[in-house]
Amino acid sequence: MYEGALEFVDSSIGQIEKPPRVVFCTTESCNELFGFKAAANTIGTFGIVISPRAWKPYYLRHEMIHHLQKERLGNIKGWLVTPDWFIEGMAYFLSEDPRSTLPEPLQQYRAQFVAWYKQVVKEHLWAEAANL
Ligand SMILES: [Zn+2]
Repeated sequence: MYEGALEFVDSSIGQIEKPPRVVFCTTESCNELFGFKAAANTIGTFGIVISPRAWKPYYLRHEMIHHLQKERLGNIKGWLVTPDWFIEGMAYFLSEDPRSTLPEPLQQYRAQFVAWYKQVVKEHLWAEAANL
């Protein structure tokens, strides 16, 4: 699953410079040990924690996209400055998350990202993203 997600992100979105460490928790208490309640979390470029609920290829692709965002935009900017619709919309859309309807505001974020992505020149994607 790790290799598959890495290969997917590298080939379809952008080359990950330093592949992230991923902790695959088999229990919820493991996930909570890291201080998390969400199904999966990416901690800057430091690593990814996957809860038992998130052992699915598209979840891991989603988190690896967050890792790539932090590599390209920086941990601080990628977290605090870049709009949520870009960060989450990109992760939900480009991970090929199969859910046709996401809980709001994620559904709106994904739609907003799709509209933006359609008109951006792919070679300039990260430069455009940095200006958001
Ligand atoms: Zn996310």
